[in-house]
Amino acid sequence: MREIYNSFIDVIFPRYCLVCNKIIYGHEQYLCLKCEGGIPFGYYNLGTENPVEKTFWGRCKIDAAGAYIKYRSDSKYASLIKNIKYDGGMILANDLGNKYGNWLKSNHLIDNNFDCLVPVPMHPKKLKKRGYNQSEEIAKGLSLSLGIPLDMNILKRDIEAESQTKKNRFSRWENTKDLYALNELNDNYTHIVIVDDVITTGSTIESCVRAVHQFKDVKVSVLALGFTL
Ligand SMILES: [Zn+2]
Repeated sequence: MREIYNSFIDVIFPRYCLVCNKIIYGHEQYLCLKCEGGIPFGYYNLGTENPVEKTFWGRCKIDAAGAYIKYRSDSKYASLIKNIKYDGGMILANDLGNKYGNWLKSNHLIDNNFDCLVPVPMHPKKLKKRGYNQSEEIAKGLSLSLGIPLDMNILKRDIEAESQTKKNRFSRWENTKDLYALNELNDNYTHIVIVDDVITTGSTIESCVRAVHQFKDVKVSVLALGFTL
């Protein structure tokens, strides 16, 4: 009965694939089956040398880093990441985080020794405007599939940065390096995981890791949904 109802709704309110823009049906959520099958997965294993980890070499101390999707701004899949940020893509962010966690688990790429997942915080003003923090939604999805709790208290963001999009690599770094600060770190933690949406220059993560390490030499790993090649 529910299926008939859903098909009926699909006819009245057609939904479109976020990648190819064709109409999607039934169980297809936001991507058609073809586009879902063609997601350019990063396959950057946690704990092995990979391009995501190399981004941070000589910059800050990271135990392991991994990303799910290879992100290129000219790829047709760029719209997927864009939708997470700009088009109220709260559910999409959450779902992709969940998928990433399941993928990590089924490929035995994740240890159970993580104390918590720490989403990169968003400035309160921006959060109010957007209504959600996409990194937090990704972390919630990851938490669901990996069974690792979230800790929203560790980091805070104090300075309101101007839009990063028009800046070059260096000024972006200058603009980001002191953006994040430590708020509160549980003494019992030995290994935390910072969760970001997309790693481009790595400066956001670098700032977060520095903020944590100024206080305590706890192990820090990184999980991101996208990684720009
Ligand atoms: Zn499609």
